[in-house]
Amino acid sequence: MPVLLMFVSVLLLGCSCCGVALLLRRIPRRVMARTERPLFKIAYGLYTRTRLGYWFYKRQLKKARERYPHGHSSTQAIVFSGVKVVPIPVLSDNYSYLVIDTTSSQAVAVDPSDPVAVQAYLDREGVTLEAILCTHKHWDHSGGNKALKKHYKSCRVYGSACDDIPELTHALADRELLTVGHLQFQAYFTPGHTVGHMIYVLDGKSGDGPDCLFSGDLLFLAGCGRMFEGSAETMLKSLDTVTSLNESTLLWPGHEYAADNLKFAEEVEPENAVRDRKTQWVNQQRLEKKCSCPSTIGEEKEYNPFLRTHCRDLHMALDLQRGADEEWSHFRARVLEEVRRRKDLFKER
Ligand SMILES: [Zn+2]
Repeated sequence: MPVLLMFVSVLLLGCSCCGVALLLRRIPRRVMARTERPLFKIAYGLYTRTRLGYWFYKRQLKKARERYPHGHSSTQAIVFSGVKVVPIPVLSDNYSYLVIDTTSSQAVAVDPSDPVAVQAYLDREGVTLEAILCTHKHWDHSGGNKALKKHYKSCRVYGSACDDIPELTHALADRELLTVGHLQFQAYFTPGHTVGHMIYVLDGKSGDGPDCLFSGDLLFLAGCGRMFEGSAETMLKSLDTVTSLNESTLLWPGHEYAADNLKFAEEVEPENAVRDRKTQWVNQQRLEKKCSCPSTIGEEKEYNPFLRTHCRDLHMALDLQRGADEEWSHFRARVLEEVRRRKDLFKER
């Protein structure tokens, strides 16, 4: 089937979550297995670099607003001294976030892909948008930048210069610090999902609370993003950045994928009591359509297979052995690649 026709059929069929993942999911697995690289590159290029991709995102946005007029999940804000973190359910399974400095009523929006939903939360909270922190260029994370920037003319838009972020005003370097009101963030360069993916850590000392990680599509509860624009070695380094954070850091990911991810985690690591308890809790939350965030980095290290490439049990379950002269990081990257490969197939069953 010609790629363009396939792409158009994706648009016409419509789907329910992140554009890129949807697009790949609609391409028959056998076709992908035979011609994965060229087919993928063309379809992915159409999504990320042309108006067709933007049109697809707008269409998904419209459908999601109709299907979930009050959002796909119910969420709860977390408040600690001087700081309020407000998760906003957008599209079919994305989360945007408002981080509010409650003393100055200044707000930061993380990945505000639905500008209407984000504006409604800004109005409800009675705060002004001072900055947008964008994790990466995919429309389901960056698609609202333009409309919000139009409304809030002095709003700063942060992200990586490598990643074609719409309306970018402040390009960030790895580990750069940024301040909005009393809020202090550190940006980390975490390529792999895209070439310029960044994550943001709110310093908990801004408000006497825990640090908060806004991980975009690098890390999800029990999962990680697809490696669209980077090797397993690159992704492993980015994931190692996450595991170096404080274990008490709260994880606020870009998507509600927890239930599916935990099912997969059980397949690659059947014996894990911590994971079983988390699965039970998440399944109950999802039955009631409640948000499963946040977890913590400490928790994720216990059950997220993408953060457990060092674990012998995982190596055995995957039937992988370290070569005699193989560097440890090279072996871990091979483990990561295999876990990712299995997850991609698992989702398509
Ligand atoms: Zn993405």
